[in-house]
Amino acid sequence: MLAVSQETKPVVSNGNGVEINSFHIAQQQLDNVAERLNLDPGIHARLRQPKRTLEVAIPTKMDDGSVRVFTGYRVQHSLDRGPAKGGLRYHPDVTLDEVKALSMWMTWKSAVVDIPFGGGKGGIIVDPKQLSKGEIERMTRRFAIELAPIIGPEMDIPAPDVNTTPQIMGWFMDGYSSLMGRRVTAIVTGKPLEVGGSLGRTEATGRGVTISVREVARRMNLDLQAAPAVIQGFGNVGRYAAALLQQECGTKTVAVSDTSGGVYNPHGLNVADLVRLKEEGGRVADYKDGDRVSNEELLELPCTVLIPSALENQITAQNAGRIQAKLIAEGANGPTTPAADTILHERGIVNVPDILANAGGVTVSYFEWQQGLRHEYWTLEEVNAKLERFLSRAVANVWERYQQEQVDMRMAAYMVAVRRVADAIHNCGTAY
Ligand code: NAD
Repeated sequence: MLAVSQETKPVVSNGNGVEINSFHIAQQQLDNVAERLNLDPGIHARLRQPKRTLEVAIPTKMDDGSVRVFTGYRVQHSLDRGPAKGGLRYHPDVTLDEVKALSMWMTWKSAVVDIPFGGGKGGIIVDPKQLSKGEIERMTRRFAIELAPIIGPEMDIPAPDVNTTPQIMGWFMDGYSSLMGRRVTAIVTGKPLEVGGSLGRTEATGRGVTISVREVARRMNLDLQAAPAVIQGFGNVGRYAAALLQQECGTKTVAVSDTSGGVYNPHGLNVADLVRLKEEGGRVADYKDGDRVSNEELLELPCTVLIPSALENQITAQNAGRIQAKLIAEGANGPTTPAADTILHERGIVNVPDILANAGGVTVSYFEWQQGLRHEYWTLEEVNAKLERFLSRAVANVWERYQQEQVDMRMAAYMVAVRRVADAIHNCGTAY
């Protein structure tokens, strides 16, 4: 066994109502791969903890003139392969441990697609649905100022995540730029096009999910034509995954959901209508042409492809035995617990892990960052062709490990990613 010097609580993740801590899960995943890779114990111990963690108070003037102080975080797990990269989440359930887990997963994600970034993540404990547009803008600008000491285009580059949009990235960039006294477009990615965003960024994560599903299904000899697909979460990732899987792989979306619940129609749903409904402020539950299902029931529906694209810890030891999909691709970060992973693997269900399946977003963020630094605009064709190349190559690398090692795909992807990060640390010499 490897010697690990940091003290952390043991992982509790039996999926039976016991609280699941994403950071402990992320550490357990690293421990498992470290053992398989026979990783240097010092490098392993270093990678179990984030490099840097910042907690900030964000005083924000409300529309009624009062001031509320929100709590925000930015965590940089690793800068070993390049600047930290990762999204900002606005959600009432944000915790420091969740942000730490997400930042570690970002390190592996950048490494598995082989882009020169480390891993970071941030968030604010807030329900943005309770705030006005002006309040969100003021909170975001203040957040950018509070994070300024540790972020920068060569240091740490935030991006959108749950409940954060291109508009919010625009405010963030402007807030940071005001402080610096010059326009710093490369400080965030996922910006609106007009202020240095990249074509193809909005749909990039859903497009990446589609490419990974197509590439893995081809290697599994799984026919996707008219194959039923179920999508949990109908936000940025879920909507584009539903639409592009249908368009590019010929699947048939039979169920989707959001926080209001899900809708199921075995004959297929009209994805364009559902997108329109959401864009007009509606809820999936308002969609008429299908049966209502709960988010729990949705995961267990008969289907070929299942795309969890909402939040963490959705597939657990409790429901993994009832999942009917043949292929799962994790649009969300951390939707499957380790116990569930084992059950899925034993049942022969292939689960394309988050660090690979949803890496399209960070890959096009890399393209956006490059365009910002070089003052260039790339065409949509260029962006999509490069994304296709990066992700197909990553799937091929992971599949090769998967075949060689006879492990599940998460372990294979981690083996590729952790090896790359460990080699980067090793080649710079160890500072401990
Ligand atoms: P989003 O806010 O645009 O959408 C989230 C969706 O999930 C919404 O439809 C919401 O209603 C739904 N949802 C929330 N809780 C749910 C629940 N319990 N059951 C069912 N649906 C629920 O967020 P997003 O950007 O689409 O991110 C979704 C996931 O994908 C997150 O895990 C995020 O970290 C991950 N991700 C996002 C990107 C990106 O580029 N946006 C990239 C990589 C990974």
